[in-house]
Amino acid sequence: MAKIKYNECPICKSKNINKFIDSKDFSTSSEDYTIFICNDCSFAFTQDVPDENSIGKYYKSEEYISHSDTKKGLFFKIYHIVRNYMLKNKQKIVEKYSGQKTGKILDIGTGTGYFINKMKQHGWSVAGIEQDDDARNFGKSNFNLDVFDKKKLFEFDDNYFDVITMWHVLEHVHRYNEYLNQIKKILKPNGKLIIAVPNYTSYDAKHYKKYWAAYDLPIHLWHFSPKSIKILLNNYNFNLIKKKGMPFDSFYVSILSEKYKKAPFGMIKGLFFGLLSLISAWGNINNYSSIIYIFDNKK
Ligand SMILES: [Zn+2]
Repeated sequence: MAKIKYNECPICKSKNINKFIDSKDFSTSSEDYTIFICNDCSFAFTQDVPDENSIGKYYKSEEYISHSDTKKGLFFKIYHIVRNYMLKNKQKIVEKYSGQKTGKILDIGTGTGYFINKMKQHGWSVAGIEQDDDARNFGKSNFNLDVFDKKKLFEFDDNYFDVITMWHVLEHVHRYNEYLNQIKKILKPNGKLIIAVPNYTSYDAKHYKKYWAAYDLPIHLWHFSPKSIKILLNNYNFNLIKKKGMPFDSFYVSILSEKYKKAPFGMIKGLFFGLLSLISAWGNINNYSSIIYIFDNKK
């Protein structure tokens, strides 16, 4: 298996990098990994990470909860309520910051397609990119959506989309520079790029340290701070116009982190620390477990 070793910061090319934290893959392989950090731009990255051709097997434990679409049990009931709330919230964000009630939207890493289906129901012309065959087929057959594999990303016309979204996707993308270059081209001037990623400067990340579930090693290749994502997107002449917190992620990530710690009463503790994380984020948005960044495409 080929692993990638970084001797400099992938974003700002600084050699001023060092070990940030030792952690491991808690969900699939139990392998140990080390996260490095750049002291100049604060970008963090998984060192010795499996390359694009060997990362696939680390995704095997992912439960595609939305595939089964079961509504049995309290957990699933809550999951569905939260998902519906989140879909509505994402729709509102897209419409508010694009200033449009309809338009053309592309969702990269669209999974089973619930989000673009929601947008389609509200009159948007939608397209999705998804690498996983099963998820892609689910979106096509269940919602009759246009979902493509990633080749298609490089085939859209220039200045085509009003909005492009990446919900918890950028941290998985090896060749993010190619993606951002292409996004820059196919997004209209002053189109909006909306990126949600976990935030390692959050309250819950600092509390859970190596057990913080949103490190999600090794499939999270990159670990963004509010500062580093702004620097990365500025390199492509994207202008940050708004940050928004994702309150449910505080709870979800805290509960999962307790599970990784194998702590007794993990669910209750997770809810408690999730709540603390949320309270701390009310005073400072940079404490949110995950943050949605809304960028304007300057041209
Ligand atoms: Zn850097």
